[in-house]
Amino acid sequence: MSLRKLDVVVVGAGFSGLYLLHKLRSSGFSVAVIEKADQLGGTWHWNRYPGARCDIPSLQYSYQFDEDLQQDWNWSEKYSAQPEILEYLNHVTDRFDLRKDIEFNTEVISARFNEEKSLWEIKTSQGELETKFCVMATGCLSAPNTPDFKGLDDYEGQFLHTGKWPQTQVDFTGESVAIIGTGSSSIQSIPVIAEQAKHLYVFQRTANYSIPSNNGPMDPAEETEVKSRYPEFRKENWENGFGIAGMAIEEMAVEDDEQGRKEKFNHHWENEGLGFLGAYADLMLDKEANEMAASFARDKVKEIVKDTEVAELLSPKFTIGCKRLCVDSGYFEAFNRDNVTLIDLNTNPIDCITSKGLMAGQEEYLVDSLILATGFDAMTGALTRIDIRGRKGISLKDQWKDGAKSYLGLGISNFPNLFTVTGPGSPSVLSNMVPSLELHVEWISQCIEWMRDNNKKVIESTKAVEEEWMTLVNEVADLTVYKSCNSWYNGSNIDEKAKEFLPFIGVPPYTEKITEVAEQNYQGFVFDKTN
Ligand code: NAP
Repeated sequence: MSLRKLDVVVVGAGFSGLYLLHKLRSSGFSVAVIEKADQLGGTWHWNRYPGARCDIPSLQYSYQFDEDLQQDWNWSEKYSAQPEILEYLNHVTDRFDLRKDIEFNTEVISARFNEEKSLWEIKTSQGELETKFCVMATGCLSAPNTPDFKGLDDYEGQFLHTGKWPQTQVDFTGESVAIIGTGSSSIQSIPVIAEQAKHLYVFQRTANYSIPSNNGPMDPAEETEVKSRYPEFRKENWENGFGIAGMAIEEMAVEDDEQGRKEKFNHHWENEGLGFLGAYADLMLDKEANEMAASFARDKVKEIVKDTEVAELLSPKFTIGCKRLCVDSGYFEAFNRDNVTLIDLNTNPIDCITSKGLMAGQEEYLVDSLILATGFDAMTGALTRIDIRGRKGISLKDQWKDGAKSYLGLGISNFPNLFTVTGPGSPSVLSNMVPSLELHVEWISQCIEWMRDNNKKVIESTKAVEEEWMTLVNEVADLTVYKSCNSWYNGSNIDEKAKEFLPFIGVPPYTEKITEVAEQNYQGFVFDKTN
């Protein structure tokens, strides 16, 4: 088979990869998207567990690059369920005729930068490619974390992970089911599984905060209003810290009185979902303010959950929002059901997985299905799990051993002509993901175009600029309460991972910075370096 030569290889056919393909192809580049799965969708393909849904409103969690597309598409609910998002992505793929340049069932095994030729050599499960540029559109939450539970391989029942759910319908009717983990994925799936299963055992290590979604059919008046001024609506959202509507406020919780706070928190609890954290400007900046919101949320758990012992176990103890906040449809209510049992792993640690279930706190739980809802090696895992080698054969995994360094979440020193979409050091997971990735796709495409027009062959970041940038990322985080608990934002969920805070907090300054960098001919990056 002859070696295929391309201008750009994009890895991953999720939201980012699809838009990259459209954008780069429209600029005249030859592009192929390499996708491991047998279909597109990325995170929305893999995470099809019961109850999977986006917790950012659909009118915001969607592409804005094409006005006709955002006018034509109609979302059926305020928060879209996974099948509808997948349908949307399929619609976009067909609308822009993208499918023909996506290679499905193809896994990238390795990517090596050939310094003599200034080309990337990509080895996939289906063959080899040579490309000038490689763009990793591999997602921030796409490398599932499977903890090394003793005896896991011995389990003979149905074994599932929320992050790689089977495409076939899973029916828990009449089954005893165990789920380990109580993050967003678990919090969304528990109410649905509880309705089907004979019994559901929930194994919790850390209780989590969750705000009711109050999801429902799309309000036609709201949809019409937003669509009548969609570009302005998008722009307004982008001007606040997280790029999400409803989070641009100036009032401080510590300056309000008790009654005022109660009313405000109540309003946000009932209407805002993730925007609960936008009730006041100081909630993520000041521990005292944060505790006011946290204690309100804990009281809500106690109001909902009837068994006081269970309610206490479900009441989180840490700073609200420092682990990713969850949004649910009936999560705490599920624990009022007779067929749901909560097991606290702090007093009943998992000893081992057995052939028929799991042993925790000297008791064996016999289950037909075992579900791991144990999250992801976030932000870096999808990259370090591929054998990526840059200058002098250096591996990305080794280079990031003591911490992931990147300039702006876009470029990595020693890895020329390799771009990451929503990489470490960018707002990514602390922003509305779709506009964030659109920003990166446009920045990367324009950069590649600029290089073509200006006769530049190779672009790379330097150690100095990425050190400086990641220092800033951490200094900004130090001004907030984000570092005050263990979370996947700082790598604490993966034992062998460096413990460092990875997302940049603040959409507007970040957007300003990368725009300025581009305007100044990609300031901070080096072109056509000679060794
Ligand atoms: P997660 O938030 O990382 O939660 C993983 C859960 O598993 C935590 O409760 C964790 O406990 C527990 N866990 C991990 N290792 C364990 C072990 N060895 N023993 C016992 N428990 C263990 O993962 P996730 O729920 O899949 O969510 C990840 C992210 O995906 C979310 O935060 C969110 O950003 C995104 N997501 C988004 C949506 C959406 O609606 N947009 C939906 C689902 C997910 P500890 O807390 O103690 O570590």
